[in-house]
Amino acid sequence: MPRLFTEKKLVIATHNKGKLAEFRALLSPLGIEVTSAGELGLPDPEETGTSFAENALIKARAACDASGLPALGDDSGLCVAALGGAPGIHSARWCGDARDPAVGVARIQEGLGDSKDFTASFFCSLALVWPDGAVEAVEGECTGQLVFPPRWSLGHGYDPWFQPDGEARTFGEMVQDEKEALSHRGVAMRKLLALFVRP
Ligand code: IMP
Repeated sequence: MPRLFTEKKLVIATHNKGKLAEFRALLSPLGIEVTSAGELGLPDPEETGTSFAENALIKARAACDASGLPALGDDSGLCVAALGGAPGIHSARWCGDARDPAVGVARIQEGLGDSKDFTASFFCSLALVWPDGAVEAVEGECTGQLVFPPRWSLGHGYDPWFQPDGEARTFGEMVQDEKEALSHRGVAMRKLLALFVRP
């Protein structure tokens, strides 16, 4: 039997305001008070895992240990088929110290060279960790194509360069609800939401 979440407060193990906003939008309607590692001033653990799932667990455990509250860790990234799945778990690192997605995209384009295979997918692992050590983990994927030049008015990270399969717009051209219906994080969150039991 999966462990059900019946607590009132949850720490999202992230310093990224865009991600926090997405989680808050999903969890606040359930009456869950959402805070984050960033808001609590918790240190970022080193992401030493070799998979999205391992890194999600590392982040969740660190936030849970430091706060004494249940914590949700998220690890996500963009996997480009022609690059053998890179940047994958290194998606954030490819954006450099300035965390500029254009820097990551420049590296992707360099790797692609003359290839016209723009197949890519966003992947997301989520790990929910309780102070007593219990863990629940889920994952989600959204397949699509890289788009050059980028198109956006909204979104964060690589959103402007990614068009999900079956769509004429990039993630960067979608409002949050539209993106959430399709996105890797939305898919994973809907699996996780089954664990959030409310009275
Ligand atoms: P993480 O914080 O270690 O999970 O890093 C994820 C990386 O992938 C960051 O560089 C994000 O910009 C990128 N990323 C993950 N999810 C999304 C998304 O939904 N849209 C755009 N970029 C994303």
